[in-house]
Amino acid sequence: MLYAWIDGVKRQPIAKGEKTICKDCGGVLTAVIPMENVKHWRHKAGDCDSWSEPEGEWHLKWKEYFDLNCREICLIDSVTGERHRADILCRTNTELATVLELQHSSISEEERLSREIFYQQNHQMFWLVHIHSETAFNEFNFGISLELMSRECEYDGRKFTVTNWGGRSKQFIEKWKKSTAHVFFDWRGYVFYLASEKISLHLGGPFGRGEFAWCALSKREFIDAVHGLKSKHQIRES
Ligand SMILES: [Zn+2]
Repeated sequence: MLYAWIDGVKRQPIAKGEKTICKDCGGVLTAVIPMENVKHWRHKAGDCDSWSEPEGEWHLKWKEYFDLNCREICLIDSVTGERHRADILCRTNTELATVLELQHSSISEEERLSREIFYQQNHQMFWLVHIHSETAFNEFNFGISLELMSRECEYDGRKFTVTNWGGRSKQFIEKWKKSTAHVFFDWRGYVFYLASEKISLHLGGPFGRGEFAWCALSKREFIDAVHGLKSKHQIRES
């Protein structure tokens, strides 16, 4: 948890020894000021979000692209009382309220799906998946995929490239292809939109195992898409 309310301000901790109360659960939070990682808050008695994972520079950088009041927003299932903290929540209380989940560590298909079910009850959902060298060979394999023999096609004014996953194990790409949310990859700071199953049908799909389509966009275009700004970059599935 990077942010908490302290003395009327929502912020990261500044100094060792700082303490405050979690607005979501009422638990005590203490400041963690690591030498080599981002400053964050730790629940003394365990995080109230069971999905909480260690966060680093990558999370901080992306959260900072959005308004402070959009970062780390607790959502509660009104029936079950289950609660989770969305990394980013934009357009609150509108029909297009959007959750952006920043995924740095690898998660199973079951975990992916349970998060999609929870957040998509009342929101549309975007994933930004960090493809980096700490998880298997995905960073290398994605790079190969971008250079493999491929074909280009256009859908809704956007240029997509259809290609094959550049590694032997197709598990990673298959897991994200099945997502019911919008999936974006951050690979070396470049953002790629992964064509959903629906969009794939407009691009010559359904695709076989390991085959997928991507569309490159700038960071600005991605951030605008999360905010739902009407532009030629808006994602339409119909
Ligand atoms: Zn809490």
